[in-house]
Amino acid sequence: MLRVVKVRLYPNKKQKQLIHKTFGSCRYVYNMLLDAKIKAYECGDNLSAYELKKRLVPMKNAEDGKFLKEVDSTALQNSVLKIDIAYKNFFRRVKQGGAVGFPKFKSKHNSHQSYQSSTATIKNSKLKLPRIGEIKTKFHRGEIIGKVKTVTVSCEANQYFASINYEDGKKEVIGTNNGKSLGIDVGVKVFAYTSENKPINPTKEHDLTEDIKKMIKAQKSLSRKKKGSANRAKAKMRLAKKHLKIKNKRNDFLHKISNKLSENQTVKVENLQVKNMSKKAKGSIENPNMRASAKSGLNRSILQQSWGKFFELLEYKLKRNGGELIKVNPKHTSQKCSRCGHISKGNRLKQAQFICTKCSFSANADYNASVNILNSNAVGTTVKAS
Ligand SMILES: [Zn+2]
Repeated sequence: MLRVVKVRLYPNKKQKQLIHKTFGSCRYVYNMLLDAKIKAYECGDNLSAYELKKRLVPMKNAEDGKFLKEVDSTALQNSVLKIDIAYKNFFRRVKQGGAVGFPKFKSKHNSHQSYQSSTATIKNSKLKLPRIGEIKTKFHRGEIIGKVKTVTVSCEANQYFASINYEDGKKEVIGTNNGKSLGIDVGVKVFAYTSENKPINPTKEHDLTEDIKKMIKAQKSLSRKKKGSANRAKAKMRLAKKHLKIKNKRNDFLHKISNKLSENQTVKVENLQVKNMSKKAKGSIENPNMRASAKSGLNRSILQQSWGKFFELLEYKLKRNGGELIKVNPKHTSQKCSRCGHISKGNRLKQAQFICTKCSFSANADYNASVNILNSNAVGTTVKAS
């Protein structure tokens, strides 16, 4: 089955230059063709992925596009495909009525740069990238990588990484599950709550409070530095490092809990695309310029922003163990009594506690919701009248 692993790269000076040259070339191609796509769209025309790809050839042959011939050609092609994906995602979100951001142009000032190669290989325990060569790579111990499909090279906070997608040659199911079904309610107060009446929260090891303090400090320090100065560049790098640390710690947390939960056969969660996230805490990691009162909510907020990623990891790991993630309709999960089925706003007079106005059933509100989720049908399925 297809697997993915992220490894750290240690390119030398020359290789770093070539990697950044590829980032720049991909960005150039992306922005030029996104512009063409938007202009065509405004004239009522649709440029398909195929048509966009065809335009690469004249771009490479143009006097001002010669540099494109010097980088990994599959990286440029994948960059073009990303335009199509961005557009498809855009229209999907429009259809769902969610908050819609039009596909954006890429900036070289973005702290996270990346490109995707389709012809990278592994040689001598090193990642070999077309046009760049073998790069010193830190593989995790005991890791056996099969046939490499795609590699996404990225740079963040001056550190280089590769996400390697590969086929491990093994059958779909590599583990076994315990045959159990579980409902999970993701919440504002706790990260998640299970129908086994257990909260899932980050332990001290994954607590972000101190890291967030440092990040805010780095943000403030940056805002005091003069634009264009060397000190500002240094401060920017320090901030990027803090961001990266938070991201890594959060991902580690998500991996650990999804590993544990994937021991089950079926896990049911709410379909978050449908769920109204009005209770979502304010503030985000991308925007740390917030009032002090919002800071306390940031730890939670960062984790809440990762629910999508959590479900993604969980789904992948459940499948690996022959299990399944089922997304259910979130309607009434918090107001419905999990014992008698009575639905009323009156059941939730207290935020943390559920008390049924009909049968007097009383329970932790998140626990009640997780049981309802466990008993719900998958989104899109209709219940047959019996
Ligand atoms: Zn009841």
